Amino acid sequence: MKVTRRDLLVWSAGAAAGLIVTPVPWKLLDDTSIWSQNWPWIPQPARVPVEMKQSSCTLCPNGCGLRVRMAAGWPVGVAGLSTHPVTRGALCPLGFAAHQLNWHPQRLRTVRHRGSNSSWSEAQRAFAKARAEGPIVIIDGYPGRAASSVLETFAQKQNGSYRVVEGPETRALKPYASWSGVPASALGYDLENAETVISFGAPMLDGWGAPGRFTRLWAERAAGRSDPQLRLIQIDSTLSRTAARSWQWISIRQGSESTLAAGLAAALLEQKLVPARGPIPAVSVDEAAMQTGMTADAIRELARTIVGRTPAVAIAADDNPSIAALNLLLGAVGTLGGIVRRSKDAVDHIAAGDAISSARAVLIDASVPWDFIHQTDAEVFRFAAWDGGSTKADWLLPVPGFLEELTDVPTAPALAVETYAVAPSLVKPASEVQSAAQFLATVEPSLIPAEKIIHTRCYNIFRALKGNVHGDEITPVAKFASAQKLEAQLWKGAVWVGEASPPGGIRCELKGWPAAPVLGAAENWSALWPAPVLPPLASKLYNESSLREAPDRRTV
Ligand code: SF4
Repeated sequence: MKVTRRDLLVWSAGAAAGLIVTPVPWKLLDDTSIWSQNWPWIPQPARVPVEMKQSSCTLCPNGCGLRVRMAAGWPVGVAGLSTHPVTRGALCPLGFAAHQLNWHPQRLRTVRHRGSNSSWSEAQRAFAKARAEGPIVIIDGYPGRAASSVLETFAQKQNGSYRVVEGPETRALKPYASWSGVPASALGYDLENAETVISFGAPMLDGWGAPGRFTRLWAERAAGRSDPQLRLIQIDSTLSRTAARSWQWISIRQGSESTLAAGLAAALLEQKLVPARGPIPAVSVDEAAMQTGMTADAIRELARTIVGRTPAVAIAADDNPSIAALNLLLGAVGTLGGIVRRSKDAVDHIAAGDAISSARAVLIDASVPWDFIHQTDAEVFRFAAWDGGSTKADWLLPVPGFLEELTDVPTAPALAVETYAVAPSLVKPASEVQSAAQFLATVEPSLIPAEKIIHTRCYNIFRALKGNVHGDEITPVAKFASAQKLEAQLWKGAVWVGEASPPGGIRCELKGWPAAPVLGAAENWSALWPAPVLPPLASKLYNESSLREAPDRRTV
């Protein structure tokens, strides 16, 4: 069964809305003996006292808060952490079942070289040879971690290139980055203060962003109300799950989102609903009506509705400069309830989808989606915890599995404020594994190890005296007596949340109305990447929950 990341996140939208407040997940998790009969590779949990630990899921950059039930040193159940400031108890099925992943039959336990068993020393020798012969490209699917810093530093020392895989939420922020010079990874949507959200096909209630974030806002401020505090206008060619639950669904022809954004801009200016700031769209309201399938009057009315309750912000499903230009016209960039700058320190990176030429070797971190396709003739060193099947990699290198490695959890994509958490190693790896960062540290001993970088980051948070630490209670950073005490809280599963940035800080220079984007092949592999393996509980949750969308659902 091929289940994609979007499928899993779709499910999590429902989980956030209701499932976590029912006993269903716990009931399912209690059925461990049944799981063990059906999937004999999952060991029976020992009959010992169960200990509860708090942490964060590191299987994707959303970093959901976890409650992990541990028995005899290994995890036997996972649930969402209700005190997590972003996900507030929501998880996707992969997270709910992550404790089963480490025993999956496709778990990588040995170094493989072109299909045969090899060893770490062979891999090190091959990598050292490649390094001596030419440039190295390093690809990271979860940038911003301490481990990412190790990968990037190595690439710099090597005169190589460090590239990142970005999700659709980050790519949708790219136009503001190119117009303002502020990296997309430093930007976010202040949805918590928005009153109108115009989604151009972004699955806001259907797998967009961190599980639980928007779905909670929707449940608290809008669901079931005829005049909600938060209006969600969903522009979609079909009755998607988000469209069906939104305040207003606007049906347009598939692929005409950019034209509608330009038409709305024309309608806003024509009716003097906004000041004429920035470039004028080349499309008239009538032309937009013809191309989108809406009437001109409907576009004008939609423009009035959008400014009827502000702050209003438009959200694109992916990189779409026309929709970003509409936000500029709406005054939604650098303002409360719009696009905000959450960080001053982030830097821009080259996208991993760009062609790799003249590299001697490519190192792919375990965080990169399994089906990432690299157009290269270079020798490929692929780090992974699970073997997802056919791959072009020359080397397959086993990494620590779920909760087997200390890592940090930087801000999830599209959040309006910075967050930071630490996921300590709770489980001892059963086989000889190394993360890409650990591997590079053996090759280049001058690299600062990720663990030390995590200490420094905790110390910097303490020294800056900003924000709060969200654990069982919320404690201002200024109240911590020492950096060690703050770090100890993070190691126990607490999450640091920074302060909201003051308005401003994003000055966009846009000379002409942007052309409609040409969507590249890269669109699919980060939005729709299939999980390399799926644990049985996740399959069951996905297949048997009524939250799975019926195939004919989107046909209207
Ligand atoms: S969305 Fe990502 S971080 Fe959250 S539970 Fe699922 S895999 Fe883990």
